[in-house]
Amino acid sequence: MPSRGRGEGQGGASRPTKIEFVSPDVIVIGAGAIGTSTAYQLAKAGLKVMVLDRGRVGGEATGASAGMIQLNPDRGTPPAFSALGAESARLFTALAAELLERTGIDIGYRRASLLHVTLDEAEEAQLRAHRAWQVDQGMSVGWLDGAAAVDVEPALNPGVRAALLYEDHYQILPRVLAQALARAATDLGAAVLEGAAADRLLIQGDRVVGVAVGGETIRSPETVIANGTWASAWSNTLQTPIPVRPVRGQMVALSTSATPLRHAVSSNSGYVLTKADGSTIVGTTVEEVGFDARPTAAGIAGLLALASRLVPRLADATVLSAWAGLRPGTPDRLPLLGRPPGWDGIVLATGHFREGILLAPITGELVLDLVARRRPRLPLDAFDPGRFLVRAA
Ligand SMILES: Cc1cc2nc3c(=O)[nH]c(=O)nc-3n(C[C@H](O)[C@H](O)[C@H](O)COP(=O)(O)OP(=O)(O)OC[C@H]3O[C@@H](n4cnc5c(N)ncnc54)[C@H](O)[C@@H]3O)c2cc1C
Repeated sequence: MPSRGRGEGQGGASRPTKIEFVSPDVIVIGAGAIGTSTAYQLAKAGLKVMVLDRGRVGGEATGASAGMIQLNPDRGTPPAFSALGAESARLFTALAAELLERTGIDIGYRRASLLHVTLDEAEEAQLRAHRAWQVDQGMSVGWLDGAAAVDVEPALNPGVRAALLYEDHYQILPRVLAQALARAATDLGAAVLEGAAADRLLIQGDRVVGVAVGGETIRSPETVIANGTWASAWSNTLQTPIPVRPVRGQMVALSTSATPLRHAVSSNSGYVLTKADGSTIVGTTVEEVGFDARPTAAGIAGLLALASRLVPRLADATVLSAWAGLRPGTPDRLPLLGRPPGWDGIVLATGHFREGILLAPITGELVLDLVARRRPRLPLDAFDPGRFLVRAA
């Protein structure tokens, strides 16, 4: 059974054996990027926070992710979502410095200008139209012909026909982000419990009043659901559809002694980038295979082929590891952020699909706004967890 503890383990979390008596102001279920960011913001605001994770801090989708932290919106992206992404990307600069200062942990926040390339003549027109729309929206996007693209990124396949250049893209080390947030929250008095599965929500009338964990109950005036793709499990208890589903993404890490890539290189089929730890990662697949987070032979083969197609010298790299994670997907690709209709004492913060690392800082701040019962700093209507209930009616 879990116990609270401070400052132990890699991420400032404890590997618990027994829960001592605690009465937190807020329980956060899930210690991925979303749960740890939320816990950090709540703890910074002076609230007593308990984070429960049935596994390890950053051990699921967060740890599996590439850690790119920019939205690449297109015509179909709702403006409210673009605003969320832009604000969260902006928050990372200060957050990275703050976490380094508080914890000594470097989350690997680095510029990783993105080159989105095409090797296909037919795709060129598509790329031009995409750029024209983005420029129209005020984004800064460069257009490079093949020779210019190879000039700025000499490792590229010389067959590249054209590329879009996004100078202002950044990346981080996502598992380290979650660990640093957990550590910072712990230092502010939060209890971050690993190996502590929330089994059941405690209900009193129309309020959630706590959580049952391994036969024990922890009471709390507020509970935040931040357990990623597993959040759908609370649908029945809350009598609200929480249509979050697992969408598997596979990744491969390569080691090469060659000069690191200057850019993150992406194409319509996936991406390659050099991380702050020196590895070159290749991603990713988008698969609907249920709760199966294992990489497959076909998935890995596809990624290796993509890597050497985009950057031919990677054919000589050695394979460090392969893994997969389950993104929390939703029917409209938007997160669920807010209180489920008719309920008090509970906030949902899940369904961040392919952007949960990017959106972690703003999500933490918005959940704090909701818990503090003040007006959220950005409009949340588009992310209302009740929207699926309305559609189902
Ligand atoms: C291959 C891949 C690449 C990606 N690349 C990017 C990227 O470049 N940029 C980006 O922004 N996003 C990216 N994403 C998406 C991003 O990883 C997710 O959106 C994000 O990690 C979701 O965070 P989360 O905290 O909601 O979920 P998770 O990280 O999955 O955390 C949920 C946590 O809840 C815990 N949990 C589950 N059930 C319970 C329970 N009952 N009780 C207690 N704990 C529980 C789990 O153990 C887990 O630790 C990528 C995802 C994948 C798979």
